[in-house]
Amino acid sequence: MESAEVARRFLTFFEERGHTVVPSASLVAEDPTLLLVPAGMVPFKPYFLGQRTPPAPRMASAQKCVRTPDIDEVGKTTRHATFFQMLGNFSIGDYFKEGAIPFAWELLTRSEADGGFGFPEDRLWVTVYLDDDEAADIWHRKVGVPEERIQRRGLADNYWHMGVPGPGGPCSEIYYDRGPEYGREGGPVADEDRYLEVWNLVFMQEQLSKVRSKTDFDIAGPLPAKNIDTGMGLERMAAILQGVDNIYETDTLWKILDRAAELTGSTYGREHRADVSLRVIADHVRAGTMMVADGIIPANEGRGYVLRRILRRAIRNLRLLGGQDGGLMHELTAVAIGAMGEQYTELTRTAANIHAVIDAEEERFLQTLRTGTAIFDQAVEETRRSGRTTLAGAQAFTLHDTYGFPIDLTLEMAAEQGLQVDEEGFRRLLEEQRQRAKADAAAKKTGNLDVSVLGQLLDLAGGRVDFTGYHDVSGEA
Ligand code: ATP
Ligand code: MG
Ligand code: MG
Ligand code: MG
Repeated sequence: MESAEVARRFLTFFEERGHTVVPSASLVAEDPTLLLVPAGMVPFKPYFLGQRTPPAPRMASAQKCVRTPDIDEVGKTTRHATFFQMLGNFSIGDYFKEGAIPFAWELLTRSEADGGFGFPEDRLWVTVYLDDDEAADIWHRKVGVPEERIQRRGLADNYWHMGVPGPGGPCSEIYYDRGPEYGREGGPVADEDRYLEVWNLVFMQEQLSKVRSKTDFDIAGPLPAKNIDTGMGLERMAAILQGVDNIYETDTLWKILDRAAELTGSTYGREHRADVSLRVIADHVRAGTMMVADGIIPANEGRGYVLRRILRRAIRNLRLLGGQDGGLMHELTAVAIGAMGEQYTELTRTAANIHAVIDAEEERFLQTLRTGTAIFDQAVEETRRSGRTTLAGAQAFTLHDTYGFPIDLTLEMAAEQGLQVDEEGFRRLLEEQRQRAKADAAAKKTGNLDVSVLGQLLDLAGGRVDFTGYHDVSGEA
């Protein structure tokens, strides 16, 4: 079953059950608390909160999503992409658990000939929140799932919120057993590689006032009504239905992966590190293409910075595979536009613009690499000659400050050379520079001096920046 058909089938099923199909919102979140849309519920948030009247009490959508925090997982797990599509049915004060659970079961287990996904019942496992006897009861009594395939989990897995103040609630997840060749038995609690999470049913009932972490938040009170928000991963469904090992091998992503292998002269399935690179390239090229199509352009802050990181990471991985030439991104973007164009006609319509933006970013980054690489190589030379294994913070800082090498790139390239980087030293120098800039700005009363990217990031992240995700391309993490 093609990816586009997975979406069609989902939407048709819910349309036939009284849901109004709503088109995907842009990846650029209207919601000021978010940079990018990470879940299908985002456009529905004002309805859950009772701030706006929904066009219909029952709705369904296929929403474009980007999850930046998952970037480290891409290519390494079988199931995480930065860009993916979330299929969802929503009830705003209409049906609750007793409606959502049987709907989900019916769609998954109904035969393909009959408009369902045809999953064998005994392959499905479900989880519910610790004390959610109501949901467990519906799964067992109403749907008929044997008790041993209903597992209970705590806040980290079975309570969903946006990570920012807003609606939230306990959830119930559905997992597909891929079989013993994928891992240990014992259900999702034992092994999430073997038991693939495909669908999350969220029972939106509370309003969160403060969110400190996934498991640490304050509940202000109940929402005006009890709501349903569900999210099914289209790519994960496609992987199961297409009988492939992971989401990067499903129809759309595979086209990009395959072309990347061809362009770099590499063979997929031969060596782990190269496979990870190819999967990262496929994911990132598609994510970049979708982001540009929604009007994002590479920049040093905000969404533009996320896009820049994603595009540059794709380019870096192409180079790791031996793809040194310019123009590779152009070829791959064209494949991504072709692969996604059926579902998203705006891609074909705006192809020229997408290419212009991505080509320019490739050129800019290759230029940075050309000038900076010689300096980097020299720094590696010096480090080795002096018998050290750590690149000095000052060297990383010079690369950043004078040659435009972002710290993530330095970390990544150093790791490829088996070297570490004195990140602490780097950050100290950066902070000193920031303070100087601040003082200058205050002195000049312009308040408008160019603050470094990292500085802005530090501000965004409330002083905490996590760079660990960039070691991965080296295969080190
Ligand atoms: P996981 O535990 O596998 O990271 P999750 O619990 O974070 O997934 P949810 O927030 O429940 O995911 O999102 C709903 C659904 O969206 C998931 O059940 C899954 O099918 C899909 N999904 C979530 N994150 C990704 C991703 N990074 N790439 C592809 N699909 C995803
Ligand atoms: Mg996750
Ligand atoms: Mg999960
Ligand atoms: Mg989940």
